[in-house]
Amino acid sequence: MARVYNFSAGPAVLPEAVLTEAAAEMLDYGGTGMGVMEMSHRSKAYQNILDTAEADLRSLMGIPENYKVLFLQGGASQQFAMVPMNLMKNKVADYIVTGVWAKKAWQEASMYGQANVVASSADRNFSYIPDCSDLPISENADYVYICENNTIYGTKFKSLPNTKGKDLVADVSSCFLSEPVDVSKYAMIYGGVQKNIGPAGVVIAIIREDLITEDVLPGTPTMLRYKTHADAGSLYNTPPAYGIYICGKVFKWLQQLGGLEAMQAVNEKKAAILYDFLDNSKLFQGTVEPASRSLMNVPFITGDKDMDAKFVKAAEAAGFVNLKGHRLVGGMRASIYNAMPIEGVSALVDFMAAFEKENR
Ligand SMILES: *Cc1c(COP(=O)(O)O)cnc(C)c1O
Repeated sequence: MARVYNFSAGPAVLPEAVLTEAAAEMLDYGGTGMGVMEMSHRSKAYQNILDTAEADLRSLMGIPENYKVLFLQGGASQQFAMVPMNLMKNKVADYIVTGVWAKKAWQEASMYGQANVVASSADRNFSYIPDCSDLPISENADYVYICENNTIYGTKFKSLPNTKGKDLVADVSSCFLSEPVDVSKYAMIYGGVQKNIGPAGVVIAIIREDLITEDVLPGTPTMLRYKTHADAGSLYNTPPAYGIYICGKVFKWLQQLGGLEAMQAVNEKKAAILYDFLDNSKLFQGTVEPASRSLMNVPFITGDKDMDAKFVKAAEAAGFVNLKGHRLVGGMRASIYNAMPIEGVSALVDFMAAFEKENR
């Protein structure tokens, strides 16, 4: 078996220990004589998997009692509609547009009410996070929306925006569980798990209880109401059962590592190795303003398209895969999520240094 170093932005690398454990339980989970994929979601064994996953996530993130944890489907993209349908009570919301995913969320919300762009970094191809300390927040805004880590552009909010007392909603798909978080500062945190937690098909939404009501926009389907899923404990219909099971294993893996503080320390180390190299390289350079750099997604370029392509090809041949950048940024992107080991980043940097020597 030859595992590569997989720098995919998502679906992405998972902890090897989790995959090994899941493989061992594939045919017989805990003496049930069946695998988790084959199990009724109403069974005792599955209820235990779900309850344990939620409890472990709550303890990892320190989620306060007055927040619900929902395991949903439809990808992060479905939340672009669910958020306004459920939370836009005054039909007004303020969006901070820092990239593709924030823009999509804003466009979707515009179908349901007045969605204002109160800040944007489009002027410099989303290469930075705008100053959000004193924004023109709307008086009657139901919430302020951010995409906390911008997967494509490689930027991250280092401090949360001043929402002037309004509820904050954050898409954390690509930085979920990468560092400690004060959940009480948000009204809602959500993310697709396929970036940093588990297999595609699961969305985790953490929502303050008072926001989960029957007062939703007219025509909101049953399946798109948070209340439906909150009342049913994420078992209104068949949940993405196997995906949740893997998420649960990743939560345990994080606990064994020492929790989110320990994870953050590792992530900072990894990112520093790569950014330090980029800052000193004469061939490669990062594309993001240093103050806004993501710990998870690191875009970089050589400034020459042919050289970029040559590098991506050579890297792949050497076992460093999925380094091609998003077409909107070009160049390369190394996604160095939780499950990417430090050795993977060190080996990549060694490879880049050797490539630089040969190609300058
Ligand atoms: C990948 C991604 C999305 C889209 O996720 P889907 O699950 O494919 O809908 C949304 N937001 C962010 C920040 C992402 O990284």
